[in-house]
Amino acid sequence: MDGVRAPRDESDYRDFAAARPGVRAFYAENHARQTVDFVRGQHEKYFPLRRRRMGVWRAFDALAELVDDSDPDLELSQRDHALQTAEALRAAGAPGWLVLTGLVHDLGKVLCLFGEPQWAVVGDTFPVGCAFDPRVVHADLFAANPDARVAQYATPLGIYAAGCGVDALLLSFGHDEYLYRVLRGSRLPEAALAVIRFHSFYAWHRAGAYAAFAAPDDGAKLEAVRRFNPFDLYSKCEAPPDWPALRPYYEALVDEYLPAELQW
Ligand code: FE
Ligand code: FE
Repeated sequence: MDGVRAPRDESDYRDFAAARPGVRAFYAENHARQTVDFVRGQHEKYFPLRRRRMGVWRAFDALAELVDDSDPDLELSQRDHALQTAEALRAAGAPGWLVLTGLVHDLGKVLCLFGEPQWAVVGDTFPVGCAFDPRVVHADLFAANPDARVAQYATPLGIYAAGCGVDALLLSFGHDEYLYRVLRGSRLPEAALAVIRFHSFYAWHRAGAYAAFAAPDDGAKLEAVRRFNPFDLYSKCEAPPDWPALRPYYEALVDEYLPAELQW
């Protein structure tokens, strides 16, 4: 990814203080309800994947109308956000697999179409089963999470071992982990899978929290996520991309890395 430059200035984005009031309301529910038991239950509900088989384009069409309640920066549909992220990467000279990662990184939001509420699908992620770090967005709202009063979960390491690695963490449930499971086993490289799995874990990739869990091979994952993140954030603008004109290029890219149908 060397030579891939972030497209825009970062100061105007993720301003949660100035965000739509619905964003804090979203996090009030998310932080109160994402518990160890909830996340384990969601894993049992969805994994192994067994809901349906569908290709990437069916998932895209389904997401065309969805607007993310947790996002302070964007009121475009998810399909437009996907294309803007991918197009920003392409314009910066990113390799094909990374452009494709930009295109698909939020497809796990199809969970909303399976009836999941947004607080269980979108927003920043954080580990459950250990003390909530104050660097997580709206961390004051964790006071309403019952796990904050479970002694076993309230220490810095909680249920984990120091140095266990980011892969071992049980993160709050959402579109990242879900899509990672869908695309694991495809031709996408490890760096792409790390981007997909951890792109919403801002306290880790942006704020440097949860460092006690770091394992030696987390460095490469962190670097991949950090390089990707500006394209996810700063490509957001309110002009919708020209989807019909772009579709042939992206169809070829999808065919190169992904099977015609995926298990969801
Ligand atoms: Fe996302
Ligand atoms: Fe995104």
